[in-house]
Amino acid sequence: MSSTQDCDYPRILFQYNNGGHLHFLLFHCPTLVCFHIMFTACELGVFDLLLESEGSLSSDAIAEHLGTSVSGMERLLDACVGLKLLEVEMKSEGAFYRNTELSNLYLAKSSLKSQYHRLMYYSKTVYFCWQYLTDAVRDGKNQYERAFGMSSEDIFGAFYRSEKEMIQFMYSLNAFWSICGRDVIAAFDLSPFTVIYDLGGCAGGLAQECISLYPKSTVTIYDLPKVVQVAKERFVSPEERRITFHEGDFFKDPIPEADLYILARILHDWADDKCMQLLTKIYKACKPGGGVLLVETLLNEDKTGPLEAQLYSLIMLVQAEGKERTPTEYSKLLAAAGFREIQVKKTGKLYDAILGRK
Ligand code: SAM
Repeated sequence: MSSTQDCDYPRILFQYNNGGHLHFLLFHCPTLVCFHIMFTACELGVFDLLLESEGSLSSDAIAEHLGTSVSGMERLLDACVGLKLLEVEMKSEGAFYRNTELSNLYLAKSSLKSQYHRLMYYSKTVYFCWQYLTDAVRDGKNQYERAFGMSSEDIFGAFYRSEKEMIQFMYSLNAFWSICGRDVIAAFDLSPFTVIYDLGGCAGGLAQECISLYPKSTVTIYDLPKVVQVAKERFVSPEERRITFHEGDFFKDPIPEADLYILARILHDWADDKCMQLLTKIYKACKPGGGVLLVETLLNEDKTGPLEAQLYSLIMLVQAEGKERTPTEYSKLLAAAGFREIQVKKTGKLYDAILGRK
């Protein structure tokens, strides 16, 4: 399977269900129902079981293995066939179901490119907040108070309201870099930068891509202490000497000197004033000749698309303090902080890259 197909699969699933067609949205299954079918099959372990069984299984066998009702499972499996997540073969004994190649790759938990955790995070957290989209649009702010009964003054305090939630978030974010990480890290030649800090580097998926593409680089994951602890324990092997860790709050604590700072999906969390505060601090810490790499999903200059960026911008409204921006908006922030020679590279995938130099 080509890497283009790989990276496009979440997009295809997404567009298949949305289509952008009013007719589909109004008169066929509402979009969220389609996604819930996929989440439910993931959560119950349908794709894992079918991957392990290396063949097709009847609905009775699947229901028995997974401890569900037969009548419910049969309908779920048929809907998955309708959504092209499963294939079905009619035999004399009845219907037998198997995974598609793409479901093996993206929906089974054990696959290296599995998007299972990302889907679970969307199902349990993102869509929970989405119920309050109308309120978010009215208020112009995130809906943690209504959704989870907690103040959102410290948004990452709210994101990480339990360790389980934080770990789910980390798995969910990391999943994307297994399919799109190489594209953003290769968007520019980063080989001249050897000392790299990944600010808000989370579980380290992008740091891994970086050291694998640039053999002379070392990457320090700088993140909040409890995130760094979990990244060390669960995500980055202790043998990986070229990835190190730094516990800190990038708004309050010092940022060490480096050749390059990566800010992947960081600025979209914050309003312009906070972005300026962070970029100005990075500019001061950056070695002369060094730079900052922004990794974000970019809106078209006239904001007419892409649809994914428009939707992510609404997710930021419901869940965070920031928004998705256009290349010009990011370039203006970088220039105001002092960065020059700003270059934008669209990868053709969900995330793009912008490099600014000191
Ligand atoms: N860069 C990662 C990626 O793209 O997968 C994670 C992006 S996530 C949206 C934002 C990250 O910033 C989280 O890992 C979060 O813990 C970290 N973060 C938020 N506020 C921070 C702060 N004040 N100091 C350091 N890290 C922070």
